[in-house]
Amino acid sequence: MGKQIAVSLLLIFLIFFLPWLWGGPARAPEPRPEPQPAEDLPPQPEEDDPAPDSGSREPGRDSTTVLNLLADGKLQQTDMETYLMGVVRAEMPAAFHQEALKAQAVAARTYILHKIAGGGSANHPQADACDDITCCQAYKTQADAAADWGEHAAEYEEKIRRAVTETDGECVLYEGAPVLAVFHSSSVGTTQDAQSVWSASLPYLQSVETPEGEDTVPNYRSTAVFSAGELGERLREALPEAVLEGSPSNWFTNIQQQPAGMVTSLSVGGVEVGGNRLRTILDLRSACFTIAFDGDEVTFSVSGYGHGVGMSQYGSNVLAEGGMTYQEILKWYYTGTEVGVIQ
Ligand SMILES: [Zn+2]
Repeated sequence: MGKQIAVSLLLIFLIFFLPWLWGGPARAPEPRPEPQPAEDLPPQPEEDDPAPDSGSREPGRDSTTVLNLLADGKLQQTDMETYLMGVVRAEMPAAFHQEALKAQAVAARTYILHKIAGGGSANHPQADACDDITCCQAYKTQADAAADWGEHAAEYEEKIRRAVTETDGECVLYEGAPVLAVFHSSSVGTTQDAQSVWSASLPYLQSVETPEGEDTVPNYRSTAVFSAGELGERLREALPEAVLEGSPSNWFTNIQQQPAGMVTSLSVGGVEVGGNRLRTILDLRSACFTIAFDGDEVTFSVSGYGHGVGMSQYGSNVLAEGGMTYQEILKWYYTGTEVGVIQ
């Protein structure tokens, strides 16, 4: 009995504090605030009685994991299964291959458990998760999704339910802990390593090849057009030290680009910024862009969508259609990881 308690305490210590000792930065699908110290820990799942075969998965793990969710501005108590179904409905097209949806369910579960283990979000200390994509993950109710899905509603809802329940409790693990399972819509040739986007390296967020492209991703190429006045205003607001004088064609210098076109850094009016930062300032769909100038008009031609780190959702779908399982897809995008239940 005493030994069991000691093991439980050790487990709790590892789950809560290892990510801190380990010092991994918390970066979400989009730039997010730093995690806060774990002083107000949210409710955690209660451990079931030890099963006779303790190594096997416990059925219904998600459905017994209580989660405080801030959705539509209201705090509600739900469970992990209900929450994850809402996330998968909102984060990935339900028409995608079943294995891609399962990969998304595992990534979403991993992402929120990593966040909780890191002390949750300072934006909502009372809730484990919210429905704001700039803070946590998107979330959509069954009714809202059904309205969008129309005649496919029943079929898609069943696909989402299977994606979550057939991966019950599973996470992407690195050295036994849930990873920072960031994901994005689509990349250009390769994903990005965390270091080049967020200046913080993580062993499992490395650049890997990804197969999606113009023929498999809608709106893969996009443009954003600004007048010189509008562009100057937005840049000055975000980068007050930038010196933006004369023609906009002189404002952007020292552009550092990867072979596939991803801008890693550039100088804007003398201020060095990362390509991802400029993407955020100008609401570009990705940091893979070129800039063209025509009189008073400045055009950004953009490829892909998102920050490019971690799992590519459209890439996952292409890999799934090529025969990969969800575990293979996750291990493809999160280098050196395993998929399993936290022990
Ligand atoms: Zn949040």
